[in-house]
Parts: sequence; structure tokens; C-alpha cells
Amino acid sequence: MDRPSEGRRPARSAPVSGRAVPVTVVGAGPYGLATAAHLLGHRVPVRVLGEPMESWRERMPTGMYLKSSPSASSLSDPAGRYRLADFRAAEGRGPGGPADPVPVEEFVRYGLWFQQACVPDLERTAVRSVEAGRAGFRIALADGEEFTSARVVLATGLAPFPHLPAGLAPLVAAGLASHSCEHRDLAGLAGRRVAVLGAGQSALESAALLREAGAEPTVVARTGRLLFGEPPGTGGPAVRRLVKPGSPLGPGWSLLAFARGPAAFRQLPDHTRLQLVRTVLGPSGAWWLRERVEGRVPVLLGRTLRSAEERSGAVRLTLGRPGGATETLEADHLLAATGYRVDLDRLPLLGPGTRRALRLLEGSPRLDADFQSSVPGLYFTGLAAAATFGPVLRFVCGTGHAARRIAGALR
Ligand SMILES: Cc1cc2nc3c(=O)[nH]c(=O)nc-3n(C[C@H](O)[C@H](O)[C@H](O)COP(=O)(O)OP(=O)(O)OC[C@H]3O[C@@H](n4cnc5c(N)ncnc54)[C@H](O)[C@@H]3O)c2cc1C
Repeated sequence: MDRPSEGRRPARSAPVSGRAVPVTVVGAGPYGLATAAHLLGHRVPVRVLGEPMESWRERMPTGMYLKSSPSASSLSDPAGRYRLADFRAAEGRGPGGPADPVPVEEFVRYGLWFQQACVPDLERTAVRSVEAGRAGFRIALADGEEFTSARVVLATGLAPFPHLPAGLAPLVAAGLASHSCEHRDLAGLAGRRVAVLGAGQSALESAALLREAGAEPTVVARTGRLLFGEPPGTGGPAVRRLVKPGSPLGPGWSLLAFARGPAAFRQLPDHTRLQLVRTVLGPSGAWWLRERVEGRVPVLLGRTLRSAEERSGAVRLTLGRPGGATETLEADHLLAATGYRVDLDRLPLLGPGTRRALRLLEGSPRLDADFQSSVPGLYFTGLAAAATFGPVLRFVCGTGHAARRIAGALR
């Protein structure tokens, strides 16, 4: 592969010994890497800490494809030289079109390529705590090192925030239920009856992968109808341009506005933003999943999970049906593909003083236009910033706005 030459490399990080590090970025997923790349582009000395692309390597199932199209799956760098298309060109391949979903394994390789090119001095270590003090933030690392940083950008992603429906804890403890993020390889459930809770991409793709691995999945969802995206090219060119213009978040004027206007989104009232972040891009599967699910995986729609308990080493789910009746479903395992909810009380690295000083909006930090929280010098990006800047911050295509804004403020 064509590795980026030295001449094209951005500035190296340059920690200042004995004094506070000017900026520390915690996290090396798409948001941490993009933020670091932009800071280095401005020659800001920065320490970048974390396992590169860890969520994508450890918490997503083998065989998964990205729901976002290739053109919406690039990490942002200041010169725009390290897009997914550039990675593919470096491997001697074409850019791919909207009809070619990106395999997760390729996306991980792309992220590692981006990191080596743009953030070569990444330190593969975990941060144990971040606590605000008079001289800056005191940062403790898992390997025992401690240092002070004037500013900190937290890009710790999804991992601390998996959401499980209430009441499942005993089943999880018994190994009979799990969140979708715990399964790197769904083939481990081959031969077993699996109740998959949810109707979004993760639920539907998990169900397809489970069936293909020899398990017996049943999708259980509150919704009355499974939704799938439209294949590229649906509706003809004129309809596409006028009625449903393309955007990195998908087709449609509203999605285009959310993708282009995270700064404007921030101006909306709190309750409107929270409502939009909850409802925009509700549960649906990618267009290419339809044929792997419909008619192949049993689906129970309009069902709410009333309770789930162990019965003779299996799981018995009691499901509410429309109209009030209930029914039961027996399974060997319950897989909750029920998404993520930001709650900073569940972010273990926040020191108690820092946590107390943070102003929150339903668990997410309140942020200014530069992604700075109510603790001066502490910035949040990625999912934690979605309550402020909108749904684009939940996806890789939001890395450009966030990284430019943060690096611009910290240069
Ligand atoms: C199943 C699934 C499928 C998805 N598909 C898509 C898709 O197709 N397209 C799309 O755009 N988005 C998709 N997403 C959303 C995607 O996860 C986010 O867009 C993206 O990963 C967010 O990047 P991030 O850097 O904020 O977080 P993450 O990717 O979660 O990265 C977080 C980083 O922080 C590090 N970290 C965490 N805690 C610490 C610590 N204490 N010390 C040091 N480092 C730490 C981790 O090691 C990791 O490197 C998907 C999500 C899921 C769950």
C-alpha cells in the first residue's frame, strides 16, 4: 500500500515536559482522531490517548457493513487527503458508490491508516481519571503516569453508554441476556433461539448475521412496521434532486439541514433539540438488509417487553400486544439491540469535582458553540455532543464540523 510520505505528514505532537500539556485528546475513534488531526494541522502540541478504532474492532460484529455510504464514511483531516476514497485509491481500488456498503473490517483498516498518517504519535493507553484543578486538568493514566493538561477534549464515544431495558440485570448476570455491543462474533450463538429486541440497524443486522451463522433469531419490536432505506437511484434524478436531495445522513431536505447545520441546531430550544435527537433517523435498516431479513427472520411487531425471567436455563419473555393482551416467547438468549443513551454519571473517568461542575441536559453536557462544556477548558465531541449539535454528531460524517470547530478554538 502507498503509505503517506514524510513530506505530506502533518505536524507531530509535541508534549512539553515539566509544564502542562497544552491539549490532551482522550479517545482514538473517528472523533478523537479527527480532532487530533485538525489540532496537529494547526501545530497545537497535543497528547492523544486511546486504543485506535477500539469500538469498531471490539464492539461491532464481524461481517457487519456500515449503514452510511462510502461518501459519508470519511474521517475529517485538515487537507481532506485522507478520506475513505483516498484509502481505497492507496490500495489500488476505486472509491465505490452508494450501492457498495463498506465492510466493518475495511473501515477499521481505514481508521488505522488514517491514524498512522495523521496522528502518528498516538499513545495506546487508557485514561483512568480527569479532574479539573487550579493549574489545569490532572490526568491519570492506567499505566500509573499522571500529568497536567491545560485543556482536554473527551472523545470517548459510545462504549460507556449502552442502554438496556429495565429489569434485565439478573438475566445479564446469568449470561442469558446481553447488549449488542458485547458481541464481536455472533456465531457464538449458533444453534440457539435468540430474541432480538429492537428494530434499528443493529437489531436487524444482528438478526440477519445470527440467522446466517445458524442461530434462530426472532425480532421483537414495538414498531408496527419494519422500515428499510430506499435503494440508491429510487425515484429518478428529478425527484431525487427536488423532493429528496442527498445528504450524508440520507435523502431528504430535513436530513440535509441536520447534516449542514449543526451550529444552527444548537440555537433551537432545549426541548426541541432533545425531541429531534430522539426521533430523527428513528429505527430502520439499510436498504441492503431488507432481503436478508424479510421472509427469513420471524418478526413480532407491535410488542412491548413487559418482563423477562429465567425459566429452566432459558429466557421467558412476556410481551404486551396491541390492545392489551399478552403473550410469551421462549428463547435461549435475549439480545438487546436497544442503542445508547448518554449519561455522564456513567462516564467513569470524570473526577467527582469535574462531574459536579458540569451543567447537563438530560445526561449530556451543555456545550458552547466551540464544544466547550461549563467546565472551562473541557470539551466533548461525538455522541455526547449530539444533544447540542444534532444527529450528525452520532455519525462519522460529523467529524469535520466538530474537529474544525474545536481545533479552531484551541489553536
Ligand atoms: C453497531 C453500530 C454501527 C454503526 N454504524 C455506523 C455507520 O455505518 N456510520 C456511521 O457514521 N456511524 C455508525 N455508528 C456510530 C459510530 O459508532 C460513531 O459514528 C463513531 O464511532 C463515533 O466515533 P467516536 O470517536 O465518538 O467514538 P468511538 O468510535 O466509540 O471511539 C471512542 C474511543 O475512545 C476511546 N476511549 C474510551 N474511553 C477511554 C479512556 N478512558 N481512555 C482512553 N481512551 C478511551 C476508545 O478506545 C475509542 O478509541 C455505528 C454504531 C454502532 C454501535
